Amino acid sequence: MRRFCPWLVGLLVVASASPLRAQDRLQDRINVVASFSILGDFVRNVGGERVGVTTLVGPNGDVHVYTPAPMDAKKVADAKLLVINGLGLEGWLPRLVQSAGSKATIVTATLGIAPIKIDAAPDPHAWQSVLNAKIYVANIRDALMAADPADAAVFRANAQSYLKELDGLDREVREAVAKIPDGRRKVISTHDAFGYLALAYGIEFIAPLGVSTESEASARDIAAIISQIKSLKIPAVFLENISDPRLIRRIAAETGTRIGGTLYSDSLTAENGDAPTYIDMVRHNIRTLSRALAN
Ligand code: ZN
Repeated sequence: MRRFCPWLVGLLVVASASPLRAQDRLQDRINVVASFSILGDFVRNVGGERVGVTTLVGPNGDVHVYTPAPMDAKKVADAKLLVINGLGLEGWLPRLVQSAGSKATIVTATLGIAPIKIDAAPDPHAWQSVLNAKIYVANIRDALMAADPADAAVFRANAQSYLKELDGLDREVREAVAKIPDGRRKVISTHDAFGYLALAYGIEFIAPLGVSTESEASARDIAAIISQIKSLKIPAVFLENISDPRLIRRIAAETGTRIGGTLYSDSLTAENGDAPTYIDMVRHNIRTLSRALAN
């Protein structure tokens, strides 16, 4: 067998260690577009450095009533994966995908979750149960592994450590709810975004708006809420980061009920806000609920 030329071996070592290679790695990252900020955070946690993530509906945006911008078509056209919630949340998305001529693989992160039905339609806010969030993460992990098998081990390890954090978060929520007195686990929020949190953790939510922010509360809806607050002795009402605060302020004023703070339902905040990540969001919500519902 021929001996290796020492200078050739030297050249190969230099080439593999050069910064150019690191840049190549950066350029061959998988381009993933997430429909809204919460999904973007899940993708970031699983994809790590191997994935470039952009979101369509950004911090504090309302995914129910989003109007895509021209830039979104470019983002979607360039994507290898498009991660969506499904369950009817992103009604504006099919048209965007079509007009962008996107060839992206669409990943429905709620696949395998049995949805809550409201008037025969699925409630899309499944991420509000941490156990469902784990299903989102597993779906995203599997999609990334399929799209980039060379990095499968990285995605599996990242997902495993994030899923462990979510297990801890689920325990935190259960412990916090257990400390709220039984009769006080009921609140008013603006739109019906907390059905999965209610079902998983046993806090009752009543909302003047339906599962979408698209609707408006009628005078009759508001009157019904006001009489419910009085008859059920509901301790607190809550604002939402994506909804107009006037409705809740009016209900609070008319019933003399305390405003317990702001809950984050469908969107994260910017880095300097209360809820820049999903885990921050769940912690903030449960702390806000606990504080307002304690005696
Ligand atoms: Zn919503």
